[in-house]
Amino acid sequence: MNLAAAALVSLAGLLTASAQNPSGKLERTSLFGSEYIRLTDWAGTGHWQVLWTRRNEEVQLTNSWSKLVFTVDSHRAEINGVTIFLSSPVALRNGTVFLSLLDVETALNPVLFPPRNTVSVPIVRVCLDPGHGGKDPGNEEGRRQEKDYTLLLARDLRELLAASGLKVAVTRNGDNFIPLPDRSELARKQDADLFVSLHFNAVLADKEEIKGVEVYCLTPAGSESTNARGDSADTSACAGNRFDAKNMLLAYEVQKTLVRTLPVEDRGVKRARFAVLRNARLPAVLIEAGFMSHPQESKRIFDPQYRRQLARAIADGILAYKRLVER
Ligand SMILES: [Zn+2]
Repeated sequence: MNLAAAALVSLAGLLTASAQNPSGKLERTSLFGSEYIRLTDWAGTGHWQVLWTRRNEEVQLTNSWSKLVFTVDSHRAEINGVTIFLSSPVALRNGTVFLSLLDVETALNPVLFPPRNTVSVPIVRVCLDPGHGGKDPGNEEGRRQEKDYTLLLARDLRELLAASGLKVAVTRNGDNFIPLPDRSELARKQDADLFVSLHFNAVLADKEEIKGVEVYCLTPAGSESTNARGDSADTSACAGNRFDAKNMLLAYEVQKTLVRTLPVEDRGVKRARFAVLRNARLPAVLIEAGFMSHPQESKRIFDPQYRRQLARAIADGILAYKRLVER
């Protein structure tokens, strides 16, 4: 690199670097229209040991407190055994692995270096949003309607969070319809510090196969949502992007407790520009706590004892997040 190029790189580094963001100083390469950095450069900033677990396919990074797994050409990654979906695929060029800078900043760093609140800003109140309601039943399996089960789960969760000393607000406590954009606004009006939307999933085909839990947070500006199919290239910024790091940490902590404490398939932390997340003016996630369309998983969802376990896991995820940001 000549001196002028070196100066440019270090200037770019100065513009974006912060104490928690060592990746900002690393040399960048453009791939798939996004900025990428070398995995080994980034690994050097965190004292990671890098090891191919499958040559040119799967690479593992370990240090004394964490393990990361990346798969070449894939969006799917693991942080300490929990699946997260990256915005851009991991790339291999001439034997060198590259990670997208946006993913380092919005998916990896928030989990590995939790964004802290100042001491004077504790998490006091959580707003629970039982999905659907009133004229909107959500998913339907026979007589069973999603809106009833999200409300039952919210009531269990409310009790557990209150018992842990948190104040709990709700967007609905009965069978009433609330427009999507109003829901996070209700959270803000009730002075909540976190917004947690509760849902159950369903599919029309492959009902026997598709099961498990997934937690969504808002897609970062400039990237596609996890389930976008290429044609819907909405990469716009939303008000909720102010909380990208906290959104990701909350989603990760909830997914982690769900998959570690319950016998459920890990469908991962995903990103979406859902209406309830877009304009949330507080950290927000949407939990899909299982498939009503799966023969066995649905039986569990309709069972009060299992829903209690679900609520316990979600509450523990929220409490883990609270400890991390308040520490
Ligand atoms: Zn739903």
